[in-house]
Amino acid sequence: MVTADTADGAALGAFRREAERWLAANVDERWRQNRGALGEEEETRIRSEWDRRLFEGGYAGLSLPREYGGQGLGLTEEVAFGELAARAQAPDGLGRVGKILTAPTLIAHGTEYQKSTFLPPIMSGEHVWCQGFSEPGAGSDLASVGCSARRVDGGYLVRGRKTWTSFSRHSQRCLVLACTDVRAPRYRNLSLLLLDMHAPGVEISPIRQISDSRHFSETAFDDVFVAEEDRVGAEGDGWRMAMTVLANERGVVEGIARYVVIRADMDLLQQCCAKPGETEEQIRDLDTRVELVRWQVSKAVAREHDAEGFLRSSMVLKVIWSELWQEVTGLGARLSCPAHRAHWRHQYLESRSATIYSGTSEIHRNMIAERVLGLPK
Ligand SMILES: Cc1cc2nc3c(=O)[nH]c(=O)nc-3n(C[C@H](O)[C@H](O)[C@H](O)COP(=O)(O)OP(=O)(O)OC[C@H]3O[C@@H](n4cnc5c(N)ncnc54)[C@H](O)[C@@H]3O)c2cc1C
Repeated sequence: MVTADTADGAALGAFRREAERWLAANVDERWRQNRGALGEEEETRIRSEWDRRLFEGGYAGLSLPREYGGQGLGLTEEVAFGELAARAQAPDGLGRVGKILTAPTLIAHGTEYQKSTFLPPIMSGEHVWCQGFSEPGAGSDLASVGCSARRVDGGYLVRGRKTWTSFSRHSQRCLVLACTDVRAPRYRNLSLLLLDMHAPGVEISPIRQISDSRHFSETAFDDVFVAEEDRVGAEGDGWRMAMTVLANERGVVEGIARYVVIRADMDLLQQCCAKPGETEEQIRDLDTRVELVRWQVSKAVAREHDAEGFLRSSMVLKVIWSELWQEVTGLGARLSCPAHRAHWRHQYLESRSATIYSGTSEIHRNMIAERVLGLPK
């Protein structure tokens, strides 16, 4: 007898087989062979090209509605594709802020104009987005943002400095959290704006990272105009909007994207550095824990319709994957396999930032203590 479950299982099986075939034909061989050692410009080109291929192949925005350029499927397919992409050693695209942070936020809170204008070019890979939240004096304490948005005819003039803005050099738009009312109480003084990165008054100064890449920048806004129709949600409701952005940033789609990277590093570790004895045991242990990341993703997906449970699983997931990735790359760097020395050096340094971005591990542990374990503040 064919039940809804078996029909769903069969459809998922067919989806997986087709995706596997597509990935085998489309993952760039140079990326597969030399990831981490291609140089930033070439990596950027491949990652950007990957976004376009995903769209053309029908794999961009799997869980987002069709009318906005997505595929109208669910988180289950999103996670299944992420796993297969990990095995195929696919690149992570350049469009992650657009797809993972902006798109679900606009679906939840955006106007019809915002969804129909901004989502299709995000899905097709034409538009890259960045996130302008952190400032020199406001990182973990995000509610202290000092960047201001002053009311003018038809919109706002944004003034201030943002820092650690990933992908800003490649971006068409930026999700900016700005203060729209200096007199309003904390948490009720902010608004979320969709700022055009090519508008007059935007200045981008790349920051060189310890890994030598320049993925992020300091971004200055000198009276940059943002139209009122490009504000998400009500004026003063920016904190709530920002929480949606952050929940997605720490969520399962990002979790599975990170699993892609960690799984690929783990496979390389097993392939090139396995030595008998203690190291072999360490590799086995890490491998099991990498699979726990995937399990934690599935656990979160199973709670997709329980908002609080979903959020809790996501918080735990972020701590697990970020710290585990550092262990994997740490072992890779220590073993210093000659054929992949450049790769491990790059990934080791790159992974240091994983326990900082999207909220530090300390902040996540505070949140887990309060919201998951129910401990007093
Ligand atoms: C690679 C990378 C990419 C990034 N990309 C972006 C981006 O695209 N857009 C963006 O807006 N931001 C981005 N960030 C910034 C990131 O969100 C912040 O770095 C992060 O939120 C921490 O803020 P901070 O650097 O100001 O550190 P601080 O908040 O100054 O924290 C310093 C230290 O104090 C600890 N600490 C602070 N408060 C507490 C507390 N209450 N309890 C316990 N410990 C505490 C922190 O855990 C940390 O160890 C990126 C960061 C990195 C590393």
